[in-house]
Amino acid sequence: MTDHDVIIVGAGFGGMGAAISLRRLGYENLLIIEREDDLGGTWHVNHYPGLAVDIASVTYSYSFEPNPHWKNWFARGAELKAYAEHVADKYDLRRHMVFGVRAEGARWDDEEKHWVVTTAPVAGGSSATRTARFLMTATGFLSQPKLPDIEGVEDFAGTVIHTAKWDDSVDLDGKRIGVIGTGATAVQLIPQIAKRAAALTVYQRTPIWVTPKNDFKIPKPVQAMFAAAPVTQRVARAANGAWLEGMMVTAVLHYKQAKFLNNGAAALAKAHLRRQVKDPETRRKLTPDYSFGCKRPTFSNDYYPTFNKEHVALETTPITKITPTGIVTSDGNETPIDVLVLATGFNLWDTNFPAFEVIGREGRDLGKSWRQTGYHAFEGVTVPGFPNFISLNSPYSYSGLSYFMTIEVQMRHLERLFGALREQDAGTFEISAEADAEFLGHMLERMDDTVFNQGSCSTARSYYYTNEGDAVLLRPTSSRNARKAVEAFPLEDYTFA
Ligand code: NAP
Repeated sequence: MTDHDVIIVGAGFGGMGAAISLRRLGYENLLIIEREDDLGGTWHVNHYPGLAVDIASVTYSYSFEPNPHWKNWFARGAELKAYAEHVADKYDLRRHMVFGVRAEGARWDDEEKHWVVTTAPVAGGSSATRTARFLMTATGFLSQPKLPDIEGVEDFAGTVIHTAKWDDSVDLDGKRIGVIGTGATAVQLIPQIAKRAAALTVYQRTPIWVTPKNDFKIPKPVQAMFAAAPVTQRVARAANGAWLEGMMVTAVLHYKQAKFLNNGAAALAKAHLRRQVKDPETRRKLTPDYSFGCKRPTFSNDYYPTFNKEHVALETTPITKITPTGIVTSDGNETPIDVLVLATGFNLWDTNFPAFEVIGREGRDLGKSWRQTGYHAFEGVTVPGFPNFISLNSPYSYSGLSYFMTIEVQMRHLERLFGALREQDAGTFEISAEADAEFLGHMLERMDDTVFNQGSCSTARSYYYTNEGDAVLLRPTSSRNARKAVEAFPLEDYTFA
């Protein structure tokens, strides 16, 4: 006896996309497990000041569920959370969701031909098991907050906040604030904090490439046009997608062939910095010394000018320790602070991939096998030895700059795969080791064209690279190639039984 057709772990946009595909295929007995207390993934968890998407919202949304009423070209965090709620309601997904429940582990039972998933309430309490014919992980990869390994961080006597655990009640007004980190999150947060702090010190280890953010309020008549004639919004989506693909994706993934685009993107960012920061020394500190795209670049109009303000300091001397009252740098200087903000990102390669233990056929451990024999998944979705398992945040899955591109390609993969399963009246699927190896070979070949292999990335400290030094996060092909591949992969690459 199996409890569910499918268990999906994660109620963010990825998990909801998978559930929409499954509902389209006629599956009704779905269980979506979410460790947070509501749906929306990243857009539920994150609510730091300044949170917004940095990919235009016409693109950063499901193509089949356009929102004509985005207020800004780049939606703010709360709007994305509301969009997630709208999608869950419209596609009737909420009734499948349970919140505050964590997946602790999953094991394939080859006798029963189902997955046994161990879950536990986040609030505490005893574990339980639930079974499902199919298991899908949609746990994201920017979901396990990383604390810095700096001496004394636990001893700080003031307020400490990680950006992914923001406390809205913290009083920032007139405070001396220290921010550690200058990734995409810090770029959004720092200009907002600077408005409230008496003194702000930003501790930068590695500068980030920042290009202009062409944000604007979408006028009501344009919103009305998007609503009345959806084709106009589709055109806007296509145009924005083409720009992103050219300037960002091609410049990074086809570095060998299109170095001029990469140089162009870097020149754009440098010109932006020159225009916005007066002091040459500050500009020098803010200029990356690695190729554009080695780590995720970002977009902002108010990050650089923040460093022109009298009460904002950019500190690049390495931190040696944190005391109960401040931050000490290697020159012996201690800066007293009241609030310590950790914009230190997420741990991808120790606590993710996968986010919990997944044991397949013959006791195969997914995490161990990825770490020992390299990270790979066929088309960034399925893994040999793991029947009826879909990993939505796999190596080589992330395609294009908008996460929705990846989600929709994966939804299409599911639809073809589960369609075939139905047609063949089968109960299990498993990708062949040969198809997986061939796909990996193709990815490695394409990787040779990318900035990760051809550029100068050694100083980037990019989370795109595993602990072993391989850049396996992004699919090193164009988005068009990913869309074509999902229509073309031979269903015979799967064994149906
Ligand atoms: P991140 O890019 O990993 O940045 C973390 C920052 O903390 C880096 O500057 C890092 O320095 C620094 N850091 C970490 N440990 C440190 C230590 N021990 N000492 C000193 N500095 C330390 O994390 P993030 O800014 O949260 O962004 C993560 C991702 O979230 C982004 O790349 C993006 O994909 C996504 N995001 C998207 C949006 C959006 O609008 N779409 C907005 C925000 C975030 P090093 O670089 O030297 O390691």
